[in-house]
Amino acid sequence: MSVKVCKFGGTSMADGNVIKNVKNIIDSQAERRFVVVSAPGKRYSDDIKVTDLLYSCYEQLNVNGTCADAFKPIRARFTDIAKQLGLKLDIKAVLDETERRIEEENSEDFTASRGEYLSARIVAEELGAKFIDAHDVIFFNEDGTLNGEKSYKAIASAVAGAERAVLPGFYGCGADGKVKTFSRGGSDITGAVVARAVNASVYENWTDVSGFLACDPRIVDSPKNIKTLSYKELRELSYMGANVLHSESIFPVRKANIPIQIKNTFRPDDCGTTIVPTSRYVPSGDLVTGIAGKKNFTVIFIEKSLMNAEIGFVRKVLSVIEEEGIPVEHIPSGIDTMSLVIASDALREYKLERILEGIKNAVEPDIIRVIENIALIATVGHGMSSTVGTSARLFNAIASANINIKMIDQGSSELNIVVGVKNEDYENCIKAIYREFFGR
Ligand code: ADP
Ligand code: ASP
Ligand code: MG
Repeated sequence: MSVKVCKFGGTSMADGNVIKNVKNIIDSQAERRFVVVSAPGKRYSDDIKVTDLLYSCYEQLNVNGTCADAFKPIRARFTDIAKQLGLKLDIKAVLDETERRIEEENSEDFTASRGEYLSARIVAEELGAKFIDAHDVIFFNEDGTLNGEKSYKAIASAVAGAERAVLPGFYGCGADGKVKTFSRGGSDITGAVVARAVNASVYENWTDVSGFLACDPRIVDSPKNIKTLSYKELRELSYMGANVLHSESIFPVRKANIPIQIKNTFRPDDCGTTIVPTSRYVPSGDLVTGIAGKKNFTVIFIEKSLMNAEIGFVRKVLSVIEEEGIPVEHIPSGIDTMSLVIASDALREYKLERILEGIKNAVEPDIIRVIENIALIATVGHGMSSTVGTSARLFNAIASANINIKMIDQGSSELNIVVGVKNEDYENCIKAIYREFFGR
């Protein structure tokens, strides 16, 4: 029989009543055998996610040598959940041990991982399923990347013989043998790794929205639901900020052609979004599939006459950035101009000053200018490249909303067009693009 891997996000773990829903969802299909969980998320809009409470715990531990106070709200969250579920698990003993180990390990990653660990202990108990610690089965390489092959093997042997199993998301075992986390939102990656390891027929990602929406629902009210997305579109949209799914979660499943389904824990009958290999993707007929974006980029604009004829110009500029160990997001260029678009966060601590100085020395530009507080917005869809006039419509829509475009970059895949606008125009720009292509 085929098996499904189900990953439940933070809001699906928020309290005991929601976890009862989760149990109903799992019990409703025998194929739903392997479960990956996040730490409890927000119960209401200004609530604090357990993972954020844990990061504060680590800060307090560093300052005071103890996290006793900061651990209290975490203890309260899990104690309430266990009580609401009426679990037999001795939650006090588990929490005492967790607090003791946080102080003993004194590691940020270990501390942050405990939300997922505790969630998984609780859900395993609630389901009567085997608990598998991610530290025993998810492995990282020396350079911090996932060691897929080792992890798939370890997971396959850990689940062998288990009717159902629950694993904590977000962390695994670093090359030094200690707990190491993925980047934020990384439980989605764990789910994909487990799906690949057990050769699942589908990777179900259960969250608090009924699928991938054409843009961020916090910006446009009830955007259109995307029924089918290709892996490539997903990668573009999630990398560019549609954080409903971590952008790295497609890599483990892509090789095995395992589709991902985004489902809503609170409306399990809604059909959600299916993400399929690009080769199996059937176009929806929509010109644009989705819009996503992120704020806070810095653009370094460089101009030099005859730049195009100067052999090695781009390499010299990029090697300055490489020396600082900073990733470049986009490099739009013209005949005598090039721009470097970099996340502003990466340029702190005098890195920007050093880079400007380095570029001046390396290529002696005529003009070098810095534009800060830029937001990037990607309009993504397989339908865009084959339809004449798509970019004209996009730019007109932005101009009609009185928004100045600071930068344009059309990906060579022709799957997306990225524009840079001022941070303050970000929301209005997304609304304008949405209105143009989705008619609202
Ligand atoms: P989980 O805790 O289940 O992993 P996340 O908070 O990571 O959930 O992701 C779900 C949230 O992503 C939604 O509540 C929504 O606010 C946000 N989101 C941003 N962009 C999109 C989008 N294009 N489609 C759906 N949700 C989006
Ligand atoms: N709990 C972690 C976070 O908040 C991981 C996750 O939810 O996927 O980032
Ligand atoms: Mg998430």
